[in-house]
Amino acid sequence: MAGGGAPPGRGALDPASTATRSYPRPVRTVWVFGDQLSHQVGPLAEADPATTRVLLVESEALLRSRRWHRQRLHLVLAGMRRFAGELEELGFAVDHRRAPTMADGLAEHRRRHRPEAVVAMSPRSPGSVALLDRLGVQRTPNAQHLVTPEQFADWADGRARLRMEDFYRWQRRRLGYLMDGDEPVSGRWNHDADNREPPPTDGRSWPRPPRSRLDDLDRQVLADVERYDVVGEPPAATAAWWPTSRRAALARLRHVVDEVLPVFGPHEDAMLTDQWHLAHTLLSPALNLGMVHPAEVADAVEDGYRAGGVPIASAEGLLRQVIGWREYVWGLSWWWGEAYLDRNELGAHRHLPPLFDLAAIDAGAPPATDMACVATAVRGVHERGWVHHIQRLMVLGNLALLAGVEPRHLTDWMWASFVDGAGWVMGPNVVGMALHADGGRMATKPYAAGGAYINRMSDSCAGCRYDPRRRTGEDACPFTTLYWDFLARHRDRFADNHRMGNQLAGLRRLADLDDVRARAVDVLGRLDAGEL
Ligand code: SF4
Repeated sequence: MAGGGAPPGRGALDPASTATRSYPRPVRTVWVFGDQLSHQVGPLAEADPATTRVLLVESEALLRSRRWHRQRLHLVLAGMRRFAGELEELGFAVDHRRAPTMADGLAEHRRRHRPEAVVAMSPRSPGSVALLDRLGVQRTPNAQHLVTPEQFADWADGRARLRMEDFYRWQRRRLGYLMDGDEPVSGRWNHDADNREPPPTDGRSWPRPPRSRLDDLDRQVLADVERYDVVGEPPAATAAWWPTSRRAALARLRHVVDEVLPVFGPHEDAMLTDQWHLAHTLLSPALNLGMVHPAEVADAVEDGYRAGGVPIASAEGLLRQVIGWREYVWGLSWWWGEAYLDRNELGAHRHLPPLFDLAAIDAGAPPATDMACVATAVRGVHERGWVHHIQRLMVLGNLALLAGVEPRHLTDWMWASFVDGAGWVMGPNVVGMALHADGGRMATKPYAAGGAYINRMSDSCAGCRYDPRRRTGEDACPFTTLYWDFLARHRDRFADNHRMGNQLAGLRRLADLDDVRARAVDVLGRLDAGEL
């Protein structure tokens, strides 16, 4: 697949404006952020190219704010530059500039082009919204989601618990996906029980995702990326996993409907060492950058199911992710606000262990751990900036939860290391779901698990130096040891939580708890030293 859309040489971005077209009268400006790469929604949808100039700013401050994964920066910058090219093909004048900050970029744009007004679709963080308001930019509502913050607030207001399942059914009814009148098609709202099968052992093949061939624009971006503090592998020499244009993103969506969805559901939660993508859609980076709209994905799911090519468990499973979970996280990020990112109810203050250090892997070292499941996940992040949700939640997140890693350290790492990272994604997914750092506002019990869960859902344990069944001794699985230590550390906090009753009863039955806790001290010391 061609990267698509960009005229030759477009990848080279001068620090000054790239716009060359002049107009006989002042025009208004539409400012497009790097995660708003669509002209289907927002002010661009109605804009007249004859009177509208588009502004895109590559902010040096933002690019230097974190240690980014190379493929993350490549994806965002190539996406912006390719989008600028697509807009020029549509007849828009585009001022795509690099500037010290976003505000500097706008100020220079205003000095040079003197627009009558600058308008932008509301960005997806409160901080960016406040910035636009300070800079006198008119805002239109964000149109990149299937629920607005105001609609979510109407739904959430007055509820004792904000259950995802309730939200999801409300969305299904409201939006009409996979519905027969007021009832869900198939008579069931939820096919999760069909979608939790362990990894298959029959050596089957999985749908291979299409890749985007690298062009001159990509090569220029990849050279530019090296000016920043970056880690992780660049895309392969000739092709990238992650679409950097709407055209490539739509090709990925077609592949999902034709090849992935027919086999998507049952093994959603499984982990295989040699099969990183299984039947996952890999659509989240394109969705989060705005290249495809969640309604387009939901429509494709509905059409695929109605045409008979997609089983209901697969269709419902993806719909649950797209109109349910993703929109729920989006709504919660506004409902709870940015302060939620600093919640730390379990008092977790451990630094991120050395095994998360992608720079060391850049330098040729293997991930700093003998834990096979963790090494596979960290290697996957290094290689692609992506691992699937169970590796994030039940391997990396679970380890951080059990070890007591400071939530901000993990959110910062995931934000910068994943190609689909975003601020609005991190709070509910990491602080609430993975680390239970919100005291149970989001998940009624922590997603803590020992080695038995990972052993059931992956093929890692067979090749690991640790034994998932053992909680003491040199070969004890660190997850199993730390799981019991975690319960012991927090037993008073969870004593009244009826959903933790079985786990705490199991803890009380442990005859060797003192030995387990002594082993946990050793495990945590080795984790901190990068020797586990
Ligand atoms: Fe992971 Fe423990 Fe299994 Fe090793 S034994 S792969 S550390 S769960």
